[in-house]
Order: sequence, then C-alpha cells, then structure tokens
Amino acid sequence: TFFKEPPSVSSRAKINGKPVFTDTMDYVLQKKLRVWCSSPDATWELGQIQSISGDDVEILLVNGEVLTLSPERLLPANPDILDGVDNLIHMSYLNEPSVLYNLQFRYSRGLIYTKAGPVLIAVNPLKEVPLYGKDFITQYRKKLNDDPHVYAVADLAFHEMLRDGINQSIIISGESGAGKTETAKIAMQYLATLGDACGMESEVLQTNVILEALGNAKTSRNDNSSRFSRVVRRATGERSYHIFYQLCSGAPPLLKKKMFLKEANYYNYLKQSACLRIDGVDDAKRFSMLVDALDIVQVSKDDQMKLFSMLSAVLWLGNISFSVIDSENHVEIVSNEGLATAAKLLGCSAPQLVNAFTARKIQAGKDNIIQKLTLTQAIDARDALAKSIYAHLFDWIVEQINHSLGTGRHHTWRSISILDIYGFESFIKNGFEQFCINYANERLQQHFNRHLFKLEQEEYIEDGIEWADVEFVDNTDCLSLFEKKPLGLLSLLDEESTFPKATDLSFANKLKQHLRGNSAFRDEQEGAFKICHYAGEVTYDTTGFLEKNRDPLNSESIQLLSSCKCELPKYFASVMVADSQNKSSQSAVDSQKQSVVTKFKAQLFKLMQQLENTTPHFIRCIQPNSKQRPMLFEHDLVTHQLKCCGVLEVVRISRAGYPTRMTHQQFAERYGCLLLQSIASQDPLSVSVAVLQQFNIPPEMYQVGYTKLFLRTGQVAALENGKNQML
Ligand code: ADP
Ligand code: MG
Repeated sequence: TFFKEPPSVSSRAKINGKPVFTDTMDYVLQKKLRVWCSSPDATWELGQIQSISGDDVEILLVNGEVLTLSPERLLPANPDILDGVDNLIHMSYLNEPSVLYNLQFRYSRGLIYTKAGPVLIAVNPLKEVPLYGKDFITQYRKKLNDDPHVYAVADLAFHEMLRDGINQSIIISGESGAGKTETAKIAMQYLATLGDACGMESEVLQTNVILEALGNAKTSRNDNSSRFSRVVRRATGERSYHIFYQLCSGAPPLLKKKMFLKEANYYNYLKQSACLRIDGVDDAKRFSMLVDALDIVQVSKDDQMKLFSMLSAVLWLGNISFSVIDSENHVEIVSNEGLATAAKLLGCSAPQLVNAFTARKIQAGKDNIIQKLTLTQAIDARDALAKSIYAHLFDWIVEQINHSLGTGRHHTWRSISILDIYGFESFIKNGFEQFCINYANERLQQHFNRHLFKLEQEEYIEDGIEWADVEFVDNTDCLSLFEKKPLGLLSLLDEESTFPKATDLSFANKLKQHLRGNSAFRDEQEGAFKICHYAGEVTYDTTGFLEKNRDPLNSESIQLLSSCKCELPKYFASVMVADSQNKSSQSAVDSQKQSVVTKFKAQLFKLMQQLENTTPHFIRCIQPNSKQRPMLFEHDLVTHQLKCCGVLEVVRISRAGYPTRMTHQQFAERYGCLLLQSIASQDPLSVSVAVLQQFNIPPEMYQVGYTKLFLRTGQVAALENGKNQML
C-alpha cells in the first residue's frame, strides 16, 4: 500500500490472548462497518462485516459473496455519505483503496477532477467530455460552479495575482500521455478569455499550434507527445516532430520547389522508424493551420521561409551518407544529393560540409593536429549538427513569437506561468533521460512539499488553533546525492565524461566507490546503480551515460555554421559561441564545453528560481489505463501514479493534521439534531461543542478555531454512524 498507516491502525493489542480494540480498525470491527478486503491478486473489494469470532472476520461482499478473513487483511472503508467526495481531504479514512474508489467513483460519472487538499487531480478522460467552452468558463468566472476544475485553478491564480500583486504559477505534472499539455491548454483557454479585453486571446492560443508542430511528436504512449530530441533517431512506430510531415505533405508546389522538398519517405531521418502517418490526422491540413497560426501571430513571411528552409536542411543532412575508405574505418562522404542540397539550404559549400563531418582539429600542446573521423564519429557529427540546428530553430521561433506578441514589453505586469513538465519516470530499463527527468522531479517535489506544508499550517494559524510542526518526507538526502560537490552524481558524471579512456562501466564503478555510504544510493549489478527517489527506487543502467552527457557538437560544426551565407545558421553559431563564453567567464575551471547535465542543472535552477517567486498552484494528471481507452480504470497503474506524483504526501500531511474542516454553522446544522438533551445556548459553536461531548470525541481529536472546527481523520465517520443509528 502506498499509505504508510500509523501502527495503531493496523496492529491489534492483545491482553491475555484476547484482542483489545484500541484503534480505528478496532472501532470499525466493533461497529461492523464497511471495510476493504485485500484479495490475493492485490486488488480490493468492498464489503460489510457480518460477524467476528476470534481472529476470523466474516464479510459480506457487494456481490453477495461471503469471505472469512483475518483483520490484517482489512482496511476501513468510508461511510457511503462520503462516496465521491470532491476533495480527498473530506474522507474519514485515507487509505489506498478508499482513494482509488473515490477517484473511480467520480471518473465513471464523468467527474474527472478531484481535489487532494489544495492540489487538483485530473484523470485523463481519453475522450471528449462536456466540461469546457464558453458556458463553463462563464460559470467559473461568476463562481456559479464549485466542482473542481482546471478553470477554477486558473481563476484562483488570476484573482490571487490581482489581490496580492504576486506572480502566479500553475505547475502541471504527470506521466507521458496523462494529459498535461491538454490541461495546460485548458488553463490557457480560460486565462485567454479573461485577457480577451486586450485582444490577445486568439494570438496566445495560436502559439500552441506552432509550438506543438515543432515540439510534439507521435510516441507509443501519446500521438501528440511533447518531446525533446528525436530528430535523428527514435523507436519504431514513433514519429519525429509533426512539422516535418506537415511540411512534406502540405507545402504548396512553389514552396516545395524552393525548399527542394520531397515526400516524407524520401528522408532517412523520417522513414527509419517505419511510421509516417497518424490515424485520423491530415498532415497537409495541419500545415495550412500552422501557416495560419504563424500569420496570426505575425511571424513574417520572410521568417516563415527561413524556418522552412532550415527544416528542409535538417532533413537533407540526414541523407548524407559515408563510405569507409581504409582499414581504420576512416570515411569519405558519398557525393550525393543530400550533400549538395543541404549545402545549398545552409548557404555553404559542399567541401565545407565534407570537412566538418570527416575531420576534426585536435589541440596537442601548441600544435593543431588534424584527426580523421571514423564512421561512427562522422555519423555522430552529422546528427549532432542536425539536432543542434533544430534545437536552435525552436528557440528562435519562440523568440519571434514573444517579440511579436510583445511579451516582456510590459515589465510591470504581473504574470501567470504555466509549467507543463515531464513527471517522474520509472521503467524496467532507465537511462540517462530518466536520470535527468527524475532529478528535475526531485527538485519540483521539494518545492511542492515546502509549499503545501506551509499552506496547511497557515490555515491552522489563521483560525487560531494550536499547532505543532508536522513532519513530512524530506527529499534533501536524494537531492544532495545528485548535487553534492565534488562527490555527487552530477559531478562524478561530469568528471568521468572528460576522461577520454573512461567507459560507462568505469563510471558505474566510480559511483559505487564514492557513494556507497549514501542513504539514497544503492549498489546494483555491474553497470547499474539505484537511487531511492521520493517516489520509489529506480535502477539506472549506465549504458550511454557518458556519450549522452558529452556535448558532441565539435568546433568544426560551429565554424561551419558561422561561415554560412544564410542568416539563421550564422545566428545559431553566434548563440553557441555566446553560450560558451558566458560560462567560461563564470568559472575558469569550466572553460571546457559544458556537459549536458551541467546545462540541465543550470536550466533547472533558473526555472526553480522563477517558480520560487510565484504563488504555485498544482495540478497532477493521471493516466487511467495503459491502453489509451476511455472509461477503463487500472488500479495498479493509478496507484503507481498517485505515489509518484506525491498525492500521497499531501494526503499524509493532511492526515497528520485535521483533514475535516467545517464551519461552526455547518457542523451544528448537520449534527445538532443528534443532541439528546437540549442546551441553553443555541449558537452554532455551543451546539457543536455539545455534540462533540455527547459522542465522547476525545479532546485531542478536534480543535475549535475562530470560524471552523478541525477534526482528525475518522471522526466524521463516527458522527455519521451515530446519525445513521439514531435516525
Ligand atoms: P501529456 O502532455 O501528459 O503527454 P497530452 O496532454 O498530450 O498528454 O494528452 C494525451 C491525450 O489524452 C490527448 O491527445 C487527448 O486525446 C487526451 N486528453 C488529455 N486530456 C484530455 C481532456 N481534458 N479531455 C479530453 N481528452 C484529453
Ligand atoms: Mg505533453
């Protein structure tokens, strides 16, 4: 189970061999309430206790079956008045089956949003649901609808921004395919409507069309997945970025001719993964939508041509091939169409390209030595250039859009940032990408913990109740395992990456040698290591770590780009040079090329710094099943995600506190009728206190605030039960 129940809930004391009921479960047994029964296949079934004899509990399941189980196999279920509550914090018993049941109860009724305290959980409907559009937006704007919703989160962010004058952020996380990007768009849709007064709505929303064309691709988990580098290689059945296919099938004849474009299956970079089309998607039509979006956002026709010609250049680079010329595997370029066309599009000569891909200058003391490249090195150099052009092209188009929309022009304006970020990943095989992704998630989790912890306490303090500090799972150890200098994962990876003779295996051994004693680090079989993340243990295979961490773009390629006649390649080269100068001025030691993890860490820190200056709002997206099918709810998969995305943490924090909060008024109205004796004063607070006393709710189980009653977990169930029995 992912809820670590405090021992008092699952263990039973025995005196003279007879069980003594001392805790929640005992109460449930005594009162013969609803329970969750764990079955051997690790699923849970709902039932009602019939009788107890010794250690055997007889339970009537919902389907009519009768089971006999020992109490260790049972967990308390919530009274049915709590079925489908819109905030998990209202549940009396916070355990795995109860949370799952509640989410599924809502999901099957089309209620895909549920709150877990201040966090919004969004379960992907995997089909269109009637929850969006103008009418809904109006409802949330006018506060006529209080069901949990992305609109409500966006609305809250907007009003807190105005009220407090503080920038806001909406942080969306979840697995690939869980619905992050859709959720981000839904939030943008709401905010764009609010901003409609300044006529920005259509422009802002059109940026999604452009960013998705360049930043998204079909993967096995999501036909429209936000991705990073996949220009040169990817798994079979997946596609490169949408824009390549859109361009090849949608460009009008004149543009095709100008850009030397062929069909998608003519290009090695596109045809290699044996997937050129997506069911139900018309790439040609998408291309014309893309051009419309570029027009609306006012990217000039001239800039659009530059964009398309660089994309075409990338595709043609992939068609450059090499042949081995000697026993040492050195190569020459097969003088082909790819070479000539790529050179034309970049504005350089064919020999310049040949030079960049077949030889490398190496400094040996004061001398420069020309080293011929082997076949693998040549292919790497070619691919690195293609990837780098694409990456810079993406940054460049974002800059053009920002410039044209005038962002940054109004420095005094407050902002709401929406972060759509890859969630924690744990597969059977985990490599460098998972290593980086999970590192980023550790940082975000720290932010999440700190913030929610603070929020929780603020509410108690505001209402004037006594409050001792709550402990929460702190992931400082894991973060320091990554970041410690000089003996942390990142430093050791960088150090090993600079040794020419180092291998992935020597890297793995180095980690073992230096990190063995660290509490978040575990030894594994050869070439692997394990990290204890907040969301669970992950075993990483070091294969490819060193190569992926080195920045393979050589100085020949930068030189090549800077000598091109076309504007964009020249500009890209200047950005690369500026980047490398920036960091060498920071530290003389770092003056070699920056590694990928070092850059990643710098970007992450910049992001965290931006987030720290905002009021965060969290949305956790959940993928309900692995088949991308609507209505199907796979318990294992959902449980795993709830654990990974830290919903557990929020629930745990709430558990340690007072998850039930009701105003004096609400409480008196609901339970006042249970009073057996009339009391002198009828004010809500007096009524409430009398009810609590009549039910012998121990003083440590509740607190009376200025406006609200705060009750510990389980107490509402006791009152509800009393109510059922009395009425
Ligand atoms: P992620 O960004 O997390 O990888 P996406 O946001 O691209 O995932 O969502 C994957 C797919 O799930 C979408 O293409 C869409 O079909 C479906 N989906 C996600 N959220 C919703 C939603 N709120 N309503 C309808 N479909 C959705
Ligand atoms: Mg996405």
